[in-house]
Amino acid sequence: MNLYEETRMLLNQYGLRANKRLGQNFLISDEIVEQIIEKSEITENDTIIEIGPGLGTLTKALLEKSKKVIAIELDPNMVDILKNRFITDKLEIIYGDVLKVDLNEIIANEGSVKVVANLPYYITTPILMKLLEERYALKSITVMVQKEVGERICSEPGIKEYGAITVTTNYYSAPKIIIDVPRENFLPSPEVDSCVMKLDVLEKPSVMVANEKVFFELIRNGFNHRRKTISNSLASGNVPKEKIMQVLGELGIDEKLRAEDLSIEDYANIANRLVGAA
Ligand code: SAM
Repeated sequence: MNLYEETRMLLNQYGLRANKRLGQNFLISDEIVEQIIEKSEITENDTIIEIGPGLGTLTKALLEKSKKVIAIELDPNMVDILKNRFITDKLEIIYGDVLKVDLNEIIANEGSVKVVANLPYYITTPILMKLLEERYALKSITVMVQKEVGERICSEPGIKEYGAITVTTNYYSAPKIIIDVPRENFLPSPEVDSCVMKLDVLEKPSVMVANEKVFFELIRNGFNHRRKTISNSLASGNVPKEKIMQVLGELGIDEKLRAEDLSIEDYANIANRLVGAA
């Protein structure tokens, strides 16, 4: 039986349909599952956090390669199916919202931990931000996301896709797109194509930042006003325009540029000057 047949069989057997509200698009390609397993570089020493295991398609393959899988699922129907399908100590199922669970508590004694998941797309950004900003001891994050999100995260300054999420993810990790996944590899088929990204989590951020609050505020201000020049967009209640102009002048950065033209190093340099740390 291939994955398409197995997925249909499981849904029929339990009298279920994919729940759109929960972003349920089940992976039905054996080949893509194999590639995810291979390219996420899992070893038998790794504990895997799987977000949204659904019917257990990836879970099954992850269980074969890793030490343990901790699967976090919000849909009680899926939790029931997983419990019936996999009778093994290697699988821990957590019924709950990934955005609300205490990951630190979950991975406290787990050693080498990697995230591998086909994410629910309606909360891709909050999930990535939770995984990266809270600095859990994760080695890597391999996730299926909407193709457009993957392209945004991997874009370069000066390109229209480049945004706050690009700078933030590249601060904490080294991201790359590892697999292109056309929409027909899911049941039901979503309206967008997808890709799998691997984010290798850095031991320390990619640039030296003296005050992260100021750094992230700059980024937020800049991209909230993308059309304005940075002399206007980077200023805020806390940072007057004159101060921004002075720092840009000192750093030799053209004040007529826009937020998307600045590299992560530029943001770090500006933030560090603003707090007198450079
Ligand atoms: N892993 C399965 C696969 O590849 O076929 C299903 C992936 S499906 C795109 C996303 C899964 O995330 C669904 O099973 C859905 O119920 C689950 N989900 C949605 N919101 C969630 C949340 N806040 N916390 C945990 N799981 C969630």
